Amino acid sequence: MSNRYVWPFSEADGKNKELLGGKGANLAVMTGIGLPIPWGFTVSTEACADYYEKNEVISAEIEAQIYANLLELEKITGKTFGDPINPLLVSVRSGARASMPGMMDTILNLGLNDEVAAGLTISTDNERFVCDSYRRFIQMFSDVVMGIDKSKFDAIFEFEKKSTGAELDTELTADNLKDVIKMYKALYYGEKKSSFPTDPKLQLIESIKAVFRSWNNERAVSYRRIYQIPDDWGTAVTIQEMVFGNMGDDSGTGVAFTRNPSTGENKLFGEFLINAQGEDVVAGIRTPLAIVELKVIMPEVYEEFVSIANKLEDHFRDMQDMEFTIEKGKLFMLQTRNGKRTAAAALKIAIDLVSEGMINEEDAIAMVQPEQLDQLLHQGFDKIALKNANVIAKGLPASPGAATGIICFNAQDVDKLVKAGASKVILVRSETSPEDIEGMHSATGILTGRGGMTSHAAVVARQMGRCCIAGCSEINIFEKEKYFLDSKNNKYSEGDYISLNGSTGYLYDGEIATVDATVTEDFLTLMKWADEVRTLGIYANADTPEDARRAREFGAEGIGLCRSEHMFFDKKRISAIREMILARTEMQRKRALDKLLPMQRGDFEGLFKEMDGLPVIIRLLDPPLHEFLPTEQVDIEELAVEMEIPLFELKQIITKLKEFNPLMGHRGCRLAVTYPEIAEMQTRAVIEAAINMSREGIKVIPEIMIPLIGDEKELKYVKSIVVNTATNLLLTSEFDIHYKVGTMIEIPRAAIIADILAEYAEFFSFGTNDMTQFVFGYSRDDADKFLFDYYKKGIFDKNPFEKLDQIGVGSMMKMAVALGRRTRPDIELGICGEHGGDPSSIEFCNSIGLDYVSCSPFRVPIARLAAAQAVINSRK
Ligand code: ADP
Ligand code: MG
Ligand code: MG
Repeated sequence: MSNRYVWPFSEADGKNKELLGGKGANLAVMTGIGLPIPWGFTVSTEACADYYEKNEVISAEIEAQIYANLLELEKITGKTFGDPINPLLVSVRSGARASMPGMMDTILNLGLNDEVAAGLTISTDNERFVCDSYRRFIQMFSDVVMGIDKSKFDAIFEFEKKSTGAELDTELTADNLKDVIKMYKALYYGEKKSSFPTDPKLQLIESIKAVFRSWNNERAVSYRRIYQIPDDWGTAVTIQEMVFGNMGDDSGTGVAFTRNPSTGENKLFGEFLINAQGEDVVAGIRTPLAIVELKVIMPEVYEEFVSIANKLEDHFRDMQDMEFTIEKGKLFMLQTRNGKRTAAAALKIAIDLVSEGMINEEDAIAMVQPEQLDQLLHQGFDKIALKNANVIAKGLPASPGAATGIICFNAQDVDKLVKAGASKVILVRSETSPEDIEGMHSATGILTGRGGMTSHAAVVARQMGRCCIAGCSEINIFEKEKYFLDSKNNKYSEGDYISLNGSTGYLYDGEIATVDATVTEDFLTLMKWADEVRTLGIYANADTPEDARRAREFGAEGIGLCRSEHMFFDKKRISAIREMILARTEMQRKRALDKLLPMQRGDFEGLFKEMDGLPVIIRLLDPPLHEFLPTEQVDIEELAVEMEIPLFELKQIITKLKEFNPLMGHRGCRLAVTYPEIAEMQTRAVIEAAINMSREGIKVIPEIMIPLIGDEKELKYVKSIVVNTATNLLLTSEFDIHYKVGTMIEIPRAAIIADILAEYAEFFSFGTNDMTQFVFGYSRDDADKFLFDYYKKGIFDKNPFEKLDQIGVGSMMKMAVALGRRTRPDIELGICGEHGGDPSSIEFCNSIGLDYVSCSPFRVPIARLAAAQAVINSRK
């Protein structure tokens, strides 16, 4: 059985990007709608796969198909490959399914050798053009196919320019270019110990192989990692008749967008160069002209181009990024694709296309990438100020936005500085811990030397909307000595200015002006459309009234997770909580809890007030108690004095609380089992706050969530504390406040026995952070250390703490959903892990029928859009 591997543009299916690559498919489309396209054919991605399967050999079958199509191309063009009198020259172009701009290789002017060049000089009577094409071909072929460093050719070219006094490449004469060609050939011989290949067919086959191989060059591989493009797609190869923009002043080449890719403005945007070829415009060889200039220089070509641009937009119903060439006054289109754009442009274009009647609202929703919205919701750097800025290092882009400020190496000092009047402080730590929460909150930005995208600093910063660079290992931080060194050993001390870009991971020297985020009309419009389509509720993880207010502004419909312990890290409270931990008797502990009660009640009142009319899910104390105790000797001594306990005794207590594996230690509901009075105090705070706020006319919907349940008897026990406390309070209250009690599903056993748990739980919230740790069996804080090797060796292509593992963790969730609903059909189901803000994970949550996802306030708009897209995709 024989397979078809090669498709002429006129026979190819323009919709099949999997087979033809984006470039090949769109060339087929353009041919189909009758645009001026140089003829050609595409060797499919299946041929690429076959090439790799056969250990980098093009099979005889595929080679035969290539030659048959070449013959056909010769017939259509009336030119012959390798014929000196009337030669066919071609380009050999790469093109994958998803556009990977500039990542792979392309070879132009293929088919040239000395004989063909001589013949072409006679037939075109344009020796300069022929020499210019020839030198380009030698350079590209030597670089792409033979692996000779491009810079060696550039050096020769520059040398020729210098020695002839030419400033621009166009000033080199045919004779100068002949010198260049001679030197290029000599270079080639020196490198390869053989002459430059003269057989056009050999040139062609070797080039096709090289383009296949370019799928695996370093650039392409790392691009795929960043954009999560599978390694097994491969590239197609397009072979196309050359048209020449380098034939003189009536020729040229350019790139253009149908709309402005930065602003979205509906106006042709682009650049071109006269007497140039290929990538000259992009490479910045000469300063290109704005596309409107073409109107002056070649008015007819301009008119034709405008009408083609409109046709293409009408056809693809999206903004197009086009490449074109003008040969002796005749326009040829060489490429079109949906153009990349900024978030602001994406919104404007989507909304404009709807009002122009080109697409409907759902198409518009599908067109904007949820992640892109991030750009709009955070502060950014002033573009002009950024141009003069110096990058000192690069870390992980852990929480987006831009921040500038003075350095501070200690969380407590951040507060001091801010209270003393500093408006912008950057907290720099090796890594952060829960004790640093307050300082992180007061800081404008956070920079850590260690830790990954899901480290404490990253998670907390995202929730707070603080800009954060994590894992910036290029700098050396000396916290105690209060300075850090960059890789060049420049010293940055407390009080010096630095700037962070949390969207890119770049760290800059000095202060850089910032610009505020703007919520535009376009943004609100798209959000409104998304809300009309989505069925999934969007809640936010918020611990403070301030976070809650922001979440609500961004459209949150409830709080899916309030981590009640975050409120304990406040300076004034930490001593009360420490008093409680260090209590020797229940009496002592109750006294300490009595101090905490009014504070917690106040917190919850604030939350209820902000979320008037919307549910607030409050989780009982979750972390192990030792997280609240100091670790440094000086701090321990200080605490001993403050608490009036002998130092040795305090140390004993701390040692006793230390755990070998805190992840699986004394935490979650286990704390409530040991110290029921904590759960009691927290319930009291919730219910009293609810009563007080009801008195103020606020509609409260409290839900109390019990963490880390693995057995129904645990749940039954802790629930009884909650219910008894609440019932007593409500008995004497004038309000009949309805509250729910539910549990987190994060321990695998809880998912397995979800039907039993549902007898007691009125809601489940999937804690997929911990669940991922338990299901995979590795800790999120340590996973970064080895996951990198997993990516490198192709074992994983994404971090399961960022993108939900739909197969493993996802199955557990599905099972728990089914079991939970079996027992309690109206059970409320949601997710509060970090995955709740990730678009692909949101799509999954939608598909398994959760009621809501909960994410950090700044991701709420992203989640709203992703939830709408999930509905649209599920219909396809
Ligand atoms: P990339 O994917 O890197 O953009 P392309 O295959 O689009 O690579 O080639 C780069 C440039 O080479 C094109 O933008 C175009 O200017 C030029 N080019 C490619 N094929 C031809 C051709 N057949 N005739 C003239 N120029 C071509
Ligand atoms: Mg291109
Ligand atoms: Mg948890």
